[in-house]
Amino acid sequence: MGMETTLNTFKSFYLLPEYVGRLESRIAPLNKRADKLGLTRIQMVVTDDYIQVIDSQAKKFRVNLLSAPVVISGWRVVGVISILDNGEALLTGNVPEEYRNHANTCDHCGQNRARKVTVLLQDGEGNLKQVGRACLKDFTDTTNPEKLADWYQDILEIEIEDDEGSEFEGGGTRVTHFDTLRVLAVAAAVIRIDSRYVPTSAVNDSVPSISTAYKVRSIVEGKGTFEVTEEDSSKASRVIVWGRGKTGESGYLGNVAAALAGPVLEYRTFGIAVSAVAAYYRSEREAADDIRRAENPSVHFGTVGRRESFRLKPVFRTVTENDYGYKTVLAFVDTAGNRATWFASGIVDSPEVDSEGFATCKATVKSHGEYKGELQTIISRVKF
Ligand SMILES: [Zn+2]
Repeated sequence: MGMETTLNTFKSFYLLPEYVGRLESRIAPLNKRADKLGLTRIQMVVTDDYIQVIDSQAKKFRVNLLSAPVVISGWRVVGVISILDNGEALLTGNVPEEYRNHANTCDHCGQNRARKVTVLLQDGEGNLKQVGRACLKDFTDTTNPEKLADWYQDILEIEIEDDEGSEFEGGGTRVTHFDTLRVLAVAAAVIRIDSRYVPTSAVNDSVPSISTAYKVRSIVEGKGTFEVTEEDSSKASRVIVWGRGKTGESGYLGNVAAALAGPVLEYRTFGIAVSAVAAYYRSEREAADDIRRAENPSVHFGTVGRRESFRLKPVFRTVTENDYGYKTVLAFVDTAGNRATWFASGIVDSPEVDSEGFATCKATVKSHGEYKGELQTIISRVKF
């Protein structure tokens, strides 16, 4: 291959030493597959970093798993999008949220059909390409590309249970129940400090990160003190009221309601309870957006036929194919929240954005239209 192999941390666990062996045996068959596929083996590193188990002498050590990038014909696998039986999209690896909206797309053949798995690839310039698993063979000259993608997905899904709820050797009691309010307040604090919520599925191989739920659990299980503010606690109370109000709903929200129903959480409801904080924030934002839209509805901007400068935030992108080739639809809002759409020919990437999520462009205002009851400005010949 001749290429320098860089290893990145793609998973991180805090584990009791006696569970390290279990993780090793979880990795062994994956490494056997790596050998067959010509991939670099996963490396496991047990670090000195530890957390103390509450009411016990036991320590859990941080164990990092490292892997080399999986490359298919010059394209690095950055994530996998799977459609679950209930129709929801599962994003594994570093897949932007927006892919939930076009989990079925294949940028290679452009054909929309029921697909179970698509793979997100990135080239050296950062361009992303979503390719159906079945199209990988056609897309590349690599042997067994779909097996490479499967392997990548499998390593991201490595989980290790060290919390079976039984007492562990060495005495001491395990925490099996957590105070709901405390957990949510810590979750609010962690999200505040990190300025983001990291779902368990978002851990990727270029940025070593730990999911928010994992951090929260380490904190509530740990011996040290961790300050939550009054604001964190009051947010936690609001999340509980909000979540319990979802009783009777189906799917995710119903699960949230069930998890938050009682004063304590169990291991199995811990992750969903932490995610409820992020879901509550999202619903607050959406409600605020609805009010803003109602008070300040989208209006047309620019002058039809004129080429002007705009600051736009990309909010949606999808690629389709017809007899004439590929088409990309990109939707934006301007700084006042007014909607704009660009129907671009070919496959066009989302622009790079600044810290506020905006990019400056020159565009020709093609027409002033309407979509789903909202006024929108159609732009063309957009140059970021
Ligand atoms: Zn395809």
